[in-house]
Amino acid sequence: MVFKTKIKCPICEGEAKLSKTSLQMFGGLVTLKDTPIYECRKCNEKFATGKIVDKTLEKTRKEFSFARKIVSTGGSLAITVPPDPAKFYKLKKGENVQLVPAGEHLMKVEV
Ligand SMILES: [Zn+2]
Repeated sequence: MVFKTKIKCPICEGEAKLSKTSLQMFGGLVTLKDTPIYECRKCNEKFATGKIVDKTLEKTRKEFSFARKIVSTGGSLAITVPPDPAKFYKLKKGENVQLVPAGEHLMKVEV
């Protein structure tokens, strides 16, 4: 993905240059390194364009998703959740979550 190296600052109309930053998401659980961001040389405001935000969210989804094997417990099938997302979503043993069909190849877990 290539972004313009310079754009006009939407706040002061000064020159904003493309730079990189580390972005914390999900309350600091995920750190995205080298996220492109524009930094205004005049007012020092930092901002991302819509395109950058889209890309960043896509990257986050990819990095925050994980592959798990389906295991069987008695008559049911189970999917284990790694500790980090379990902690983030405050999942506890014995609590109920809602499995919601969201498409032919997609099922959401509502917490
Ligand atoms: Zn500015």
